[in-house]
Amino acid sequence: MNVDLHCHSNVSDGVLAPAALAAYAHNAGVDVWALTDHDEVGGIARAREAATAVGMRFVPGVEISITWANQTVHIVGLQIDATNTALVNGLAATRSGRDARGREMAEQLEKAGIPGAYEGALKYVDNPDLMSRTHFARYLVECGACASIPEVFRKYLTEGKPGYVPHRWASLQDAVSWIRGAGGIAVIAHPGRYKFGVVGEGALFDEFKQLGGSAIEVVTGSHTPDQYDVYAEQARRYGFLASRGTDFHAPGETRVEFSLLPPLPGGVTPVWHDWF
Ligand code: AMP
Ligand code: MN
Ligand code: MN
Ligand code: MN
Repeated sequence: MNVDLHCHSNVSDGVLAPAALAAYAHNAGVDVWALTDHDEVGGIARAREAATAVGMRFVPGVEISITWANQTVHIVGLQIDATNTALVNGLAATRSGRDARGREMAEQLEKAGIPGAYEGALKYVDNPDLMSRTHFARYLVECGACASIPEVFRKYLTEGKPGYVPHRWASLQDAVSWIRGAGGIAVIAHPGRYKFGVVGEGALFDEFKQLGGSAIEVVTGSHTPDQYDVYAEQARRYGFLASRGTDFHAPGETRVEFSLLPPLPGGVTPVWHDWF
């Protein structure tokens, strides 16, 4: 069974509309599918309808941006009630400030010799509430400043590089409480992507667990194959359930297509173990 619990529609920084994304995942062989847009649940109803129509099991989700130890970390919520008031209000508060941040990013890029990036990125934005670094990355490729999206994130938009604007997101405690309050399961997204020393990662896992977080992503398109085993071991060590998902954003733009993501390694309990 192909269970894919992390991907993005054009309600955040993916390119496919929720219904088109459901069809794409289904055609790629996904049996159980979660939509997890950044800081947004506006696509869930359309995704659920389209997924159900083709016989795919649907899991309502979200990927919340938080700031922890002065770094941006992503917390996925699965099986959430997307109409829960505290969650909806918390996400709205988290989104606010993205537009102003985008304008500052563009000012920096202009000083670095790339004018017009705000308008350029905006062409890729479908949800005006959710301007993301990904939209800028697409424009930086379009205008020839970089040859690929990974190159953009090596040269621009990240700490110490032009176009990086530090931003304070939600707290870990808020994100976990919004997710749990909406009946969901909190999952640390792509733990291998953060730049903590080993000690920092352990501190994040401990605090997350204490707050009621229950899972980490083990197999994700944002991990290298080596990291699948590293985070399977961390899941066992900390007693977390293991999640799996492509982190798909767009055809051809993604590191791993739906059909090519490997299954979870043995010895971990899947986050979906008691869902069906
Ligand atoms: P934001 O929420 O605006 O800070 O944008 C974060 C998004 O940028 C992530 O969800 C990814 O889609 C994208 N992103 C960040 N780092 C990278 C990277 N190294 N390579 C490709 N995409 C990235
Ligand atoms: Mn993204
Ligand atoms: Mn993420
Ligand atoms: Mn993601």
